[in-house]
Amino acid sequence: MSRHDVIIIGGGLTGASALHRLAREGANVILLERQMCLGGVARSRRNAHGALVESGPNSAQSGTPELAALIADLQLADKVVRPGEAAANRYIMRDGALLVAPTTPREFLRTALFNRRTRLRALRERFVAPAPADREESVAQFVERRLGRDVLDYAVDPFISGIYAGRPEHLSFRHAFPRLHSLEQTHGSLIRGAMRMQRQRRKARKHASKEGSSAAAPERGIFSFTEGMGMLPQTIQEYWHDLLRLDCMVERLERNGALWSVHAGGETYTAPDLIIATEADAAATLLAPIQPELGEVLRRIEHPPLAVATMLYGQPAVTHPLDGFGLLIPSSEHRRILGVIFSSTLFPGRAPEGTVLLTAFAGGARDPHRTAVSDEELLYEIHGELRRILGIASKPLSCDLQRWPRSIPQYNLGYQHVLDAIAATEERMPGLHLLGSYRGGVSVGDRVKAGWQLAERLLAAAITPPAVADLNNPESGSENMEEME
Ligand SMILES: Cc1cc2nc3c(=O)[nH]c(=O)nc-3n(C[C@H](O)[C@H](O)[C@H](O)COP(=O)(O)OP(=O)(O)OC[C@H]3O[C@@H](n4cnc5c(N)ncnc54)[C@H](O)[C@@H]3O)c2cc1C
Repeated sequence: MSRHDVIIIGGGLTGASALHRLAREGANVILLERQMCLGGVARSRRNAHGALVESGPNSAQSGTPELAALIADLQLADKVVRPGEAAANRYIMRDGALLVAPTTPREFLRTALFNRRTRLRALRERFVAPAPADREESVAQFVERRLGRDVLDYAVDPFISGIYAGRPEHLSFRHAFPRLHSLEQTHGSLIRGAMRMQRQRRKARKHASKEGSSAAAPERGIFSFTEGMGMLPQTIQEYWHDLLRLDCMVERLERNGALWSVHAGGETYTAPDLIIATEADAAATLLAPIQPELGEVLRRIEHPPLAVATMLYGQPAVTHPLDGFGLLIPSSEHRRILGVIFSSTLFPGRAPEGTVLLTAFAGGARDPHRTAVSDEELLYEIHGELRRILGIASKPLSCDLQRWPRSIPQYNLGYQHVLDAIAATEERMPGLHLLGSYRGGVSVGDRVKAGWQLAERLLAAAITPPAVADLNNPESGSENMEEME
């Protein structure tokens, strides 16, 4: 029996971030992970040709303070890589052609992606009344109401594939994009809200530079690390290896008074606080014997299958200049892939000299059957699309295929009932914390923030023992909690 203050099950970005924040304060915490290393979805490796293969996230968005703090703590700042000028373009396919997507209002007024009528319709967004606060809309309903059908089909639909591998008709706007939802609710319009926020940021930057501080003006935009996003969990693993049990599949949970018992690999771990930071279906399996209804709710969350193909080509064989971040393909173009990241343009050091690296995505909620073929067939189809779209004249030098049978949780219409069921269980079972990507956002920044903030709440509660300890139970109120102060 091994006794702790906090047990974390699952060492993806969420669990690893919680571990770091707790361990940094000297908490008696242990993390159990069924794989041989931390990272979960976020894994990076070099293939035999020296190309960097990302299994999951290719980049993260700056601007989350918890993510910035984690990078600083891990002394990873000098390993951060950012896209150069060459990666500024984002292409969207329209009628088979690749057109540069507008990223500023000025570009929107001139873009060839939309005709004049669409542009004028979108400019009228400011005068569209906000939806009543209690009405739940799909992303498609929201966008069509505020910006029109063409913007939905040729900007938002491909963008949704890029973030959620999802469908705008199914995703709940308020749950999938809470910040944009509150922009409409607070300012009455996305454009007006975005302009006001931009003004506020500009003011804050000006103020910060006057004060000689950069704290109020964090760097924005996307980034990765020299050896990919996997460096983040990998470094956490190196820091806290004594607090990890890897290759350790949790089989069963039990609740004894105020303590949780976790059975894994022939060992029993106990603690008053248990963080389940696994995927939804793994959490459902663990909770099924004690909370079958919640298990069912978690199991029913849609997770579409997704395939990620990393293809290395000789540079002379590719006609397209690959001068951008990548390309996204709207559903209405009926192609076999969702989009492509121009990986070797996006970040330095991704591929050997004289080669280019592309990361293509297929499947997702809008084309789930696409991945139901053999690896050879799937790679053949993906290469065929890349050949036609980017004018590639030769076979790839290497192909790496990563399949995710259950990729990204879909915050679909009616998602509130999932969140309510989780909150009700946590209330009934003090010390239980459910923290997967099915709650609080799917992005790298959201996952780090979720793990970090829960750890901070536990640390704060440990300073006021009655909040965490069941004083009627002699088993509770671990002596180790004092070490967390
Ligand atoms: C293909 C793909 C591309 C993505 N691209 C981006 C991107 O570019 N940018 C971005 O911001 N986000 C991206 N995301 C989203 C983001 O990467 C994920 O939401 C995030 O990494 C999930 O982290 P997590 O820790 O919540 O879950 P996971 O990474 O799923 O970790 C859960 C962990 O729990 C472990 N586990 C499960 N059951 C048990 C058990 N019984 N016992 C012990 N351990 C267990 C698993 O082995 C796993 O390690 C992408 C996601 C995917 C799938």
